[in-house]
Order: sequence, then structure tokens, then C-alpha cells
Amino acid sequence: MPLNRIDLSDINHPALLARMVHKLLGKQEGSVPVEDIAKALDISEVRLDRFDGFEGMLLTDTVRSTGCILANISKGHRRARFTVAHELGHFLMERHQLSATTGFTCSTRDMRESREGRQHLRQETQANQFAIELLAPDYLMEPFYSHDPDLRDAQHLMNSLDVSLEACVRRMVERRDEPLAAVWSHNGTVRYFAKGADFPFLNLSRGDRIPQTSAAHRAITNASPGFTQFVEADPHPWTGRSNLELYEQTRVANKGHAVTLLWAELPEDEEDGGLKELGIPGFR
Ligand SMILES: [Zn+2]
Repeated sequence: MPLNRIDLSDINHPALLARMVHKLLGKQEGSVPVEDIAKALDISEVRLDRFDGFEGMLLTDTVRSTGCILANISKGHRRARFTVAHELGHFLMERHQLSATTGFTCSTRDMRESREGRQHLRQETQANQFAIELLAPDYLMEPFYSHDPDLRDAQHLMNSLDVSLEACVRRMVERRDEPLAAVWSHNGTVRYFAKGADFPFLNLSRGDRIPQTSAAHRAITNASPGFTQFVEADPHPWTGRSNLELYEQTRVANKGHAVTLLWAELPEDEEDGGLKELGIPGFR
């Protein structure tokens, strides 16, 4: 592999770092060979196994003279691939401070971290940004996009890129042009959500019930696995607002799990964050 850590040194922005890896690698087809990439970048060993108490571990030192990655396989190989990419991110971003003298230990929660707060949160967020950009670069995602947003696209992406459905949905919400959000629920109760930058405020918190008037609620109550069609939704219970159009689609999985995709159409003066109104061209 035409990869070298020297070409990647001093890039501290996680997405730019992953894009540089792809630039050096050249175009790939199908799933990104994350273990081979790690080994080409001086990770001496990648161990996939069932571990208790952590999702991923990077054994290294402050100057990264050595690196060994352990990834927990107990939640499936797609999760483990993400974990390997996450730990590789900690390895390559040398400003990341070790969480123990032997390196980094990362939890399931760390793998979902997206906040930019204290150093620890920021590091986990950056490792996740690196991981998803490495495993699901735009050029491998875009051929799978339907004209309109569709959760089925995420399922096809999952199979092609060998990345979890959740990661594919998060990526779609973040990268597509439409204002999108996704809400994960269990037995009709919100677990967490992700929203794109253009999506308005989401009026839900962890532990809230999915709005009773929604198609999502009906689909979850019926509990038959599969995808619903996109239908118009009452925007108020989801967003606390009535002056926008909202559409929703749900994928019902087994054991009470579901994900709902929300697609907002904003009033014209709010598109592009209101920049049009100010006569300033948007950046998208
Ligand atoms: Zn981590």
C-alpha cells in the first residue's frame, strides 16, 4: 500500500487526515481495508476478539513509536471495523493525550461521542470523525444515494461499505444536502438522535416517547420489520414548530428497535441558514 506516516504527520484535522489517506491510497471499490491500512501505517498488530469492559484499545506511547489495536468483536464485525478505524485515529493524531500510561481505552459511549467539550470528549469526537471519513468517504457513498433521502440507501451502504447501519444513517444525515435528522428508539422511547447542520431544533430528549400522532409511532406499534414510505408528518411534536414541512420514514428492526429519518423543508427565508435573505451566497 502506498501509505506512509510521514505524509500524514502534522495533519490534526480528523476529516482532512482521512481524506489524505484516501488520496494516497487511490480509489477503492467496496469496503475500505481498514486493517491493512492500519498495518501500512505502523500498527504492528490488530486483534479482534471478545473483550469485556471496553470497545477498543490502542497500546502505544506518547510519541507513537509503537501501536497495537484491540477491537471488541462481540457486537459484530462492522462495529469492530469502526473501532479499528477509531483507534487508528488516536494513533495518527499525535496531539491526542493517552488515557493511561499504556495508551487509550475506549468505551461504547466513546464510539458515539460527538460533543466538543473537554479534551477527552474532543479526542473521542475526532477519532469518530476520522473513522467515519475513512470507512465511508463521499466518493463511495454517493453512488448509493437515491434522488430523495431514503433509509434503504443506508442499508445498501451498510452492505457495500461493511459499516454498521447506524453509522451509514449518521453519515447520510450529515452529508446529504437536505435538512435531515435521525432518531433511534427502543420500544417507542427515544435513545439518541443525530441531525444535520441545516435541520432545525429537534424537540426530543433521551427517554421521551416517540410522538403518538406520528407514522413512526404506528409503525413501531405494529412491530412488523421493514421500511415505511416517507409520509408527511405533523412537525410540531418533533420540532416544536409548525411553520415548516416535515416528512418521516421509519425502519423497524427486531426486538423493539427502530430508526426514524426526518426530512424538513424550511420556509424559504431560512434555507441556507438565512444567508439568501442577507444576499450572501451559501457555501453548499
Ligand atoms: Zn477513543
